[in-house]
Amino acid sequence: MAELIFSGVSRLFDGIPALNGIDARIAAGEFVALLGPSGCGKTTLLRLTAGFEAPDAGEITLGGQVLARVGGPFVPPEDRNIGIVFQSYALWPHMTVARNVAYPLEVRRIAAPERRRRVAEALALTGLSAFADRAPAQLSGGQRQRVALARCLVAEPRAVLLDEPLANLDLALRATMQDAFAAFHRRTGATMLYVTHDQTEALALADRVAVMQDGRIRQFAAPEVLYDRPQDCFVAGFVGDGAVIPLRVAGPLTPAGILVHALGQQIEARATDARPTHLCIRPEQVAIDGAGPIRARVSACTYQGGRFRLVLDAGGESLVTHGGQRARIGEELRLSIRHPWAFRDPDT
Ligand code: ADP
Ligand code: MG
Repeated sequence: MAELIFSGVSRLFDGIPALNGIDARIAAGEFVALLGPSGCGKTTLLRLTAGFEAPDAGEITLGGQVLARVGGPFVPPEDRNIGIVFQSYALWPHMTVARNVAYPLEVRRIAAPERRRRVAEALALTGLSAFADRAPAQLSGGQRQRVALARCLVAEPRAVLLDEPLANLDLALRATMQDAFAAFHRRTGATMLYVTHDQTEALALADRVAVMQDGRIRQFAAPEVLYDRPQDCFVAGFVGDGAVIPLRVAGPLTPAGILVHALGQQIEARATDARPTHLCIRPEQVAIDGAGPIRARVSACTYQGGRFRLVLDAGGESLVTHGGQRARIGEELRLSIRHPWAFRDPDT
């Protein structure tokens, strides 16, 4: 497996940038999720990596080899040895599971004994050994997606690209397949670039997540860092539940944090910037507290299984918290806010 590096990668369609100066380094064996709303450029970045598109600026390298550079080398897709799994499985319906998985090796004229060994290995890794002789039509959606993964893996790719591979599956199967992908990554140590617009999936699976918007990476960090310390309003709002509200600075930045003015209160916030503009307040940081200084009214209450999600109106700002009991719409509660994150939004 190999390190994948994007340096200043841009791609224009009709003069409009689908990707705008992408810089990212994905370590060998790392599982990285590309997360962002529809149209932000995720698939374009995968297609550039696979070699189906060429960049208009910048460079892509894999394991030290330049795959594409403007005015320089361009390695065609078939010579990149990169595995790709799409949302649709594209299996051959008339071939058994084993033949489907063996197909990339047949194309490369790998001898039968080695082919059989590698197919058996790929089927075992994806939990499909018992299904080798079935036809794709006899499999569930999740099993078919695993065949597609086995077929990609059998070629021993230097990196694996997955474009919303679970988008067609129902919720329960998606959770099972997420576990399967995580186990697959542990066992193979593959360098994986996994595209999704589902933030739960990205946070659950990836070592690090690149959050994209409008062709740019807004923040590239571990899931817990994105959740605890978002760098801008887009990331704060797109990753994880909670509220993003404007603030005024009320004190100096110290190692313990900063005192800010928001929701009509002075609030102790965590911060690393001396001039933050916004607070990101996660549900866990909003406590329902009879003696709390903030008054709020319940504006929505939905059951989430085991707990309720409460949306609260605090003097015109919306907050989110969790509660153990159903709350009445319009009910007044008192709240205290504990250790929210204050950051400086670069677009403010
Ligand atoms: P995502 O996968 O994040 O939904 P895409 O990478 O598919 O986003 O698309 C990014 C932007 O580039 C979109 O605005 C899309 O319409 C545009 N785009 C992608 N491929 C093409 C193409 N072949 N021709 C013209 N525009 C394209
Ligand atoms: Mg896409």
